[in-house]
This record gives sequence, C-alpha cells and structure tokens, in this order.
Amino acid sequence: MTTNDDGVHPVGPAVLRITRAATNCYLLDTADGPVLIDAGLPRAWPLLVRALETVGLSPDDLVSVYLTHGHFDHVGMCDRLVREHHVPLHVHDDDVALVRHPYRYAHERPRWRYPIRFPAAIPALARMTAAGALSVHGVDAHGDVRPGARLLGGLVPIATPGHTRGHCAFFWPEQGVLFSGDALVTFDPYTAAAGPRVVARAATADASTALRALDALAATRARLVLPGHGRPFEEGAEAAAAAARRTPVA
Ligand SMILES: [Zn+2]
Ligand SMILES: [Zn+2]
Repeated sequence: MTTNDDGVHPVGPAVLRITRAATNCYLLDTADGPVLIDAGLPRAWPLLVRALETVGLSPDDLVSVYLTHGHFDHVGMCDRLVREHHVPLHVHDDDVALVRHPYRYAHERPRWRYPIRFPAAIPALARMTAAGALSVHGVDAHGDVRPGARLLGGLVPIATPGHTRGHCAFFWPEQGVLFSGDALVTFDPYTAAAGPRVVARAATADASTALRALDALAATRARLVLPGHGRPFEEGAEAAAAAARRTPVA
C-alpha cells in the first residue's frame, strides 16, 4: 500500500485519524475533552487544525497529547502545540530524552540500506521528507505515562518496549480501540510492506523485544487496532498480533 492516504478520516464515533505521509495521529473525543495521540510530522498541522474545526475546536482546546514514543515522525507538531498552544505533552519516562532529541534513536540496521533493498518504499519516504521529517524540533515532555495507570479519557498505557525503550500503546476500553503506535503497524514506511507487522530494524531498537511485546497488545482483546503507520485493522488485537508474529522483521 503506497497509495496516498493523506487527510482526516473518521474511525467510528469518537476518533478521527489524521494522516500525512503514511504517518497517523488520532484525535479522540473523550469524556475529559479532546485528546491527541501522537503528533505526526510538522506539515500535518493544517490537517490537525481541520480535524479540530470539524468538531468546532482549535488546538487551544486540546487537553493532552499522549505520545506512543519519541521518534521524529510522532513528535512533529509537539513544538508548536506546546509553545503556541500550551498543550501538556506526556510520554513514558524512558522516551523523554528521545522527545527532546527525536533523531537520536537506536536501531538495529543501517537506515540507508532500506531504500536500496526496498525501492517501493522510496515514495513514502519522500512524502515524509516533504512533510517536514528532517526539520522536527525536540521538546520537553512529562515522563509520567505509566503502564496500567489510567490517563485522561480512561486511556490505559500498555508497555510495548522494543521499537523504542519507552514505547507505550494506548488502550481505550470504553471504545474497544487500541492505539498501537509503532509497536505494531499495518504499513512499514521502510519497506512499503502492508499488513500487521513490527517496523523494520531501520527504526526498531530491539526487534526480539518488540516481538515479545505483541503479547501485551493481544491481551487487550481490542476489537480495532489503530497503528502509527497504515490503515486501521478491524479484525482485533489478537489477530493483529498473531499476523505480526508470523511476519519476519525486515
Ligand atoms: Zn517509531
Ligand atoms: Zn513511526
């Protein structure tokens, strides 16, 4: 799936998927107010504003941003949200340093090999660059996302280390929805492969840990999985995790 999916897409009654350059963030209508999960690439900004406008809101109205992890493609709008709109930003303590320096991340294999081995990925990677992937500013986040401890809106962080050390997915029991971040994606920007999988070793710190973390995603038994990259997966968290286990990590 390399088709351009840019835009604002409703996912059920309470979630808008905001997609720019094969990278997703999600706007949630929770009982505690509007919450953003992940903050995409810098030039997703007009889409975020449009998504908020469709529900009569502006960025000032966001009550919280929760980050699954600190990679540049999930932190792109944080600088603007924090500095111009004073939105509180939260992440697991182990990824606070990465949010501050979103390009200093560990990965198992050299990134440059991937566009050569997987040329189908070049369009998606080029779209990420055009969306500001090389000009993300780091920012200070609160390192207070603790696995199991409920957050605003009733969201529950699920420890899913491996892609990064502090990666957390977010389970929303009320809706049966799991925001899996990059612990499990349905499109890998580094290979252009579609279907549930762990992200390529070009961007994953420890693939064997990431594969073990799939058990925690499956245990939520969420009916719908909304990943950091790729389309929604509607067959549930257990099937998503099972498919990802069967798929070799590139
Ligand atoms: Zn990532
Ligand atoms: Zn990502």
